[in-house]
Amino acid sequence: MAPTAIILGAGVAGLSTALFLAREGWSVTLLDPLGPAGGASFGNAGLLSPETVVPAALPGMWRKVPGWLRDPTGPLTIRRAYAAKVAPWLLRWLAESRMPQVERNAEALKALHAPALEVWREMLGEAAYRDLIRQSGQVQVWDGPSATAEIETALRAKHGIRAEVLGADELRQIYPGLARDITRGLLVPGNGHTVSPARAVHSLAALVQEAGGTILAQKALKLIPREGGGWRVMANVAMHEADAVVVAGGAWSLQLLAPLGITVPLETERGYHAHLPAPSIELRVPIMHKSRGFGLTPMEDGLRAAGTVEFAGLDAAPDERRATLLAEHAKRLFPGLEFGTPRLWMGFRPSFPDSLPVVGEAKRDLYLCFGHGHFGMTGGPPSGRMLAALMAGRPQTGLAALSPSRFARA
Ligand SMILES: Cc1cc2nc3c(=O)[nH]c(=O)nc-3n(C[C@H](O)[C@H](O)[C@H](O)COP(=O)(O)OP(=O)(O)OC[C@H]3O[C@@H](n4cnc5c(N)ncnc54)[C@H](O)[C@@H]3O)c2cc1C
Repeated sequence: MAPTAIILGAGVAGLSTALFLAREGWSVTLLDPLGPAGGASFGNAGLLSPETVVPAALPGMWRKVPGWLRDPTGPLTIRRAYAAKVAPWLLRWLAESRMPQVERNAEALKALHAPALEVWREMLGEAAYRDLIRQSGQVQVWDGPSATAEIETALRAKHGIRAEVLGADELRQIYPGLARDITRGLLVPGNGHTVSPARAVHSLAALVQEAGGTILAQKALKLIPREGGGWRVMANVAMHEADAVVVAGGAWSLQLLAPLGITVPLETERGYHAHLPAPSIELRVPIMHKSRGFGLTPMEDGLRAAGTVEFAGLDAAPDERRATLLAEHAKRLFPGLEFGTPRLWMGFRPSFPDSLPVVGEAKRDLYLCFGHGHFGMTGGPPSGRMLAALMAGRPQTGLAALSPSRFARA
């Protein structure tokens, strides 16, 4: 009989794991009350970044935080009612900004992200890959000098990442309508993007079903270990059991794990998008404005301005002004840009202080695959491939840095 697995969460992390498990011969059932791509995997910026190795916490970055917090249009905000709650996580984030930790995290990001496009191709097949994914490169720009530029350059050089510095003329060749005050940028040609994160993730769901998997619109409420191995999952309308369970519930994962005594420092970095449905300009290469913490990605149904970070937990209502602001940022970046009525969205990035996810076994037959933070469309698929191989009995060296037990050692 085929081994059985229940995967909790049908975002990019859960679906990638499910697809590779199904292809390994497992019988898989996915539970998600929102269905495929109902979480962060729906509305992200769609950047696929095999060449991204720079973690979020870098030396000296904390000096920028007070300025960001004072600026209502800045890239970071902390809701007052949530400040005490998030403080321990921010302290751990600060600890990760020391150089030895930065080096270690960059190494792990490199190993995780490098195969991202190859894994998307393996999952989707050639035709769907070409339809959904563009190896376009990505450009980063800044308002003024970047305090962390030197470290970022050193990390890219150490890991063999190709990057080209762009002057004002070169930038204008790629982006004819770019604002005059943007005079320098950086092209990372090995990165790319998807023209529709939602369609890419729905394609994974269809492939899971084609491979014999089942996707049910149910919410897991409790995990109960079975005597002798395996787990029972109590969901809102049914009880399920399987040889193994994978928790891939994104930012909500701890709700299921805390009762089992599994505590990892997961926080949600909420982010927003303003989807511009009828843009007057054509963009071929996504552009990220690092000082304002947002990016502009060309998608099949318009341009998506996405990004910024808000700490406010899982329950606070969205602040739609932060999404509206992204449309205004886009207009500042391209002053001639016109668009229709923006569609606004908020999502929950599942984030750890070291910018790495947890992927691996937490208890016998209980596996974790979440916490990909800013990079889940990139790191989710390679995580799923490694986790499925591990569950099929092939230990993966790449998982050591992503171990759920690493925080106990910290
Ligand atoms: C504004 C923004 C921009 C971003 N841009 C990029 C980008 O350009 N490139 C990139 O690589 N990444 C980006 N990200 C990050 C990326 O979107 C996430 O890291 C990734 O989508 C996380 O995937 P996931 O499957 O872990 O979580 P999710 O997609 O959030 O999926 C988790 C799922 O678990 C389900 N779930 C929760 N609780 C339960 C339960 N009890 N039972 C069953 N199911 C449950 C939820 O309903 C949800 O569908 C961005 C994120 C945001 C918010």
